[in-house]
Order: sequence, then structure tokens, then C-alpha cells
Amino acid sequence: MNKYKLQKDKLQNFLEQLAERFAVYAPVEKNGITSFAELEPGQLPALDFLRTQKPPKDIFYPQTEVILKFDEDGTKSTEYTGKPIAVFGVRPCDAKGFVIVERVFVDKKYEDFYWAIRRKDSLVISIGCNEPLRSCFCNWVGGGPFDTTGSDVLATDTGTEYILQPVSEFGERVMAEIEKLEKATEKDIDKAKALQTKALASMPEPPALDSLKSSLDALFDDPFWDEVTAKCLGCAACTFSCPTCYCFDIQDESRRGKGVRIRIWDTCQFPLFTKEGSGHNPRKSQMSRLRQRYMHKFSYMVETQGEFGCVGCGRCVSSCPVNIDVREFIVEAIATARDKGVEA
Ligand code: SF4
Ligand code: SF4
Repeated sequence: MNKYKLQKDKLQNFLEQLAERFAVYAPVEKNGITSFAELEPGQLPALDFLRTQKPPKDIFYPQTEVILKFDEDGTKSTEYTGKPIAVFGVRPCDAKGFVIVERVFVDKKYEDFYWAIRRKDSLVISIGCNEPLRSCFCNWVGGGPFDTTGSDVLATDTGTEYILQPVSEFGERVMAEIEKLEKATEKDIDKAKALQTKALASMPEPPALDSLKSSLDALFDDPFWDEVTAKCLGCAACTFSCPTCYCFDIQDESRRGKGVRIRIWDTCQFPLFTKEGSGHNPRKSQMSRLRQRYMHKFSYMVETQGEFGCVGCGRCVSSCPVNIDVREFIVEAIATARDKGVEA
């Protein structure tokens, strides 16, 4: 596939051309919070930070969404009616996060209508990470600072320009249709490759995680969990900031015969999440709730998806108010299972 070069001073024009065909989402900063939002005409994205605080999954799966309206005459589903969506400036871990969530919402048997309609004909342009943060560990979980999973185009920031590498045929087609986009030269491509190699080399060597799933399975009833979860407050900052957490609740709100049905992000970290109508709660303790989060990502999703349900974005590391670090948990789990001789 051809590779292209986008001068940064031409970014606005590039985004305007995309906006003729797509609703363009990119990182923005509002009230001190960084997240993805649809760009206003003429608005430039905020690209001088690496990772948004809020994960970009809400582009395709809003935190709250009215999915149905009802009144005396009946019910009517609501649906996204905007243009196809283009995401610009997503980081490779988050682009991979789209793929993981998509496997949950769309499979051979079932399709989540609300996710699927936004994802239809969407374009993902990611920007690789020249200088990964200390909390990033994408290279532990099968990714990397320039991983292409989930991207249609991967951009490398060389300082004054982006080298655009189409990954999918769709990405190639859209790039070919952008006017005045220069083709990258061999020299440009070599420069991008050197930055990519340097970025990966700057990340600490990952530990071997081959035995992580079997270690967790073997430790399920072990007192290990009491120790590693003792500090947890159950605040759910980790799940709400996670690009691969996807659980939701459905609530109806009505007044005088009219109402709406809303889908809202939910979290396994809240006691109500599993409380049954009888009052019984199978996950009564915070230990059992945090264990569920870790078992889901590092054991159950290996069974259902064939890979970890974590992309190593590090948001949960940065957002946890009591400094629970998923990397320390992973290393501790493997070591504990090995020391106890329970590793499968
Ligand atoms: S578990 Fe933590 S590091 Fe992994 S994807 Fe979720 S927020 Fe990112
Ligand atoms: S952010 Fe930290 S304290 Fe809050 S629920 Fe997650 S692990 Fe527990």
C-alpha cells in the first residue's frame, strides 16, 4: 500500500476533507478533562498529550444513550442518524480496544444494534506513541506503541508531519481520495520506522505472561486475593476509564405517560451490579468484585476471545486513587502461583 505524508500545517485541510464525508472525532480538552468529541467546523484536535483521560469507546458506545422512547401510542427505537464516523488521533491501545469491545457486541449470533450502527463504515486513524508513558504496558499484552490492530491508518508523528500508513483497504481508499496528500518518500518511511523502533525499545522488557491465566484459575479461592484487593475502595475509576470494559445497565424514566429507556455504562465494581431481586448478592465483598475484574480480563476473555481483555493503556494505573497497579497484580499472581506450586 502507498504511504502518505501530511504536513502538520495542512492538518486542518485534511480534517475538513474528512468532514465532508464523516463525522470527525478527535481528542479535545474541556473543563480540564481530555476525551474524544466530534470536532466543530474549524476546530483542531488537542494532540499534545498522549492518552485521553476518558477512553474513546464512548464514540461508538456513549456513556448514556436513549435507546427507546415511549408514550401512550407505543414505543419507538432511537438510532444514530449521523454521518459515518472517522476517529482521528486515537492511540494504538485504544484502537485495539475497539476490536475487543466489538467482539462482545457483534458476533456470529448477535449484533448490538447501537454499537454496530455507529461502527458501520467508520474510519480509525491512529497516531503511534513516540514516547510511551511510564504507566503504559501495551507491549505486555500483545500490542505496542505502533501496533496497527483496529486502525485503518496508522500515523507516525515525525515532528513537522505525519507519515500515514494505510492498514486496511478502506483506509487506503480514503487516503487516496484526499486531495493534495503527498506520497511519502523512502526517506520519510525510514524516519518513521526509526521512531517506531525507538519507541518500542524505550519500554521496559515485558514479563512472560504465558502462565497468567492458569495461575489465576488455580488461585481463584486463594487468600492471595484478600491481600491484592485489600486497598480497593470500589470507586470504579478503573472500569470507567477502561477502553475494554463494556458492561451496561438499562433504566426506564417516565413522567405523565411519556418516557425513555436509557443505556448507561455500569461496572462490576459496584455492589448493586450483581444484587439479585431476592436481595442475595453473589459478589458481596469488594475482594470478589475486583477479583471478577481481573479474572474477566486475564482469564475469561482468554477463553472467549483468545487474548487478554486488557490493552495495557495504563489508565486504571493512573486513575486508581489508592495506587492499585494492574502490572504489580499480574507479576504477583504469577509469582504466588509459582511459589505455591499451583501453576497449571
Ligand atoms: S485494565 Fe487498565 S490497563 Fe488494561 S485496558 Fe483497562 S484501563 Fe487499560
Ligand atoms: S480504581 Fe482502584 S480503588 Fe477504585 S475500584 Fe478500581 S482498583 Fe478499586
